[in-house]
Amino acid sequence: MPAKVFFYYSAMNAGKSSNLLQANYNYNERDLRTLLFIPKLIGKDQIVSRIGLAAKAIQFEPDFDFVDYVKTFIEATPAEESGSQGKLGCVLVDEAQFLNQRQVISLTRVADELQIPVLCYGLRSDFLGEPFEGSKYLLTLADELREIKTICSCGRKASMNQRIREDGRPVARGEQVEVGGNDRYVGKCRKHFYEGLGEASLDEPDESKKRRVSDGTPPKKDANNANMDALLGSSPTQA
Ligand SMILES: [Zn+2]
Repeated sequence: MPAKVFFYYSAMNAGKSSNLLQANYNYNERDLRTLLFIPKLIGKDQIVSRIGLAAKAIQFEPDFDFVDYVKTFIEATPAEESGSQGKLGCVLVDEAQFLNQRQVISLTRVADELQIPVLCYGLRSDFLGEPFEGSKYLLTLADELREIKTICSCGRKASMNQRIREDGRPVARGEQVEVGGNDRYVGKCRKHFYEGLGEASLDEPDESKKRRVSDGTPPKKDANNANMDALLGSSPTQA
């Protein structure tokens, strides 16, 4: 059976990292090794869940090549020498929204050419409702799309990520990559997300910003910057 690429997506604080760490545990329990990856920009070499699980992860930068790395890893640890403990069971990527297009394609080669399942976990969109580069290509290329669900305060499914200030008011501008804390973001349903952006534009008397929120004109950034910027980041390892 061919190996698949999975994309587990959700809003902030839905338990993505917990899900990843549980999957990792399941593989290890069956004596299968795993490789865990996290973007360098997150600033941590481990994946931590809000409910207390943690595991070491390999940090990767935008020029990192997954298929080369995994191929080298497999060649260096042949299963016949190290027993079942040496066999690679899957590759797990946290904060997968920060992958670039080339890296998503490289991950599909890990599945297609090396026959190793790839499990990616990430946010679908940023705090302005724009898709992340990694998520856009994972939504396009993954074999299986699985939503990890969480709810808005109104009880509807939360699919969007609202950045908020300390006082809880929504924010509609600022650096898109912000590594700070999960409390800077709240998962919201689409309706309340856009209501929040509208509220934020009243709080932020910046003309260009107001125009953008009101007429939907995208931010004046090139696509690549926007994606890197677009971090809903907070302490993304705990998303
Ligand atoms: Zn709502």
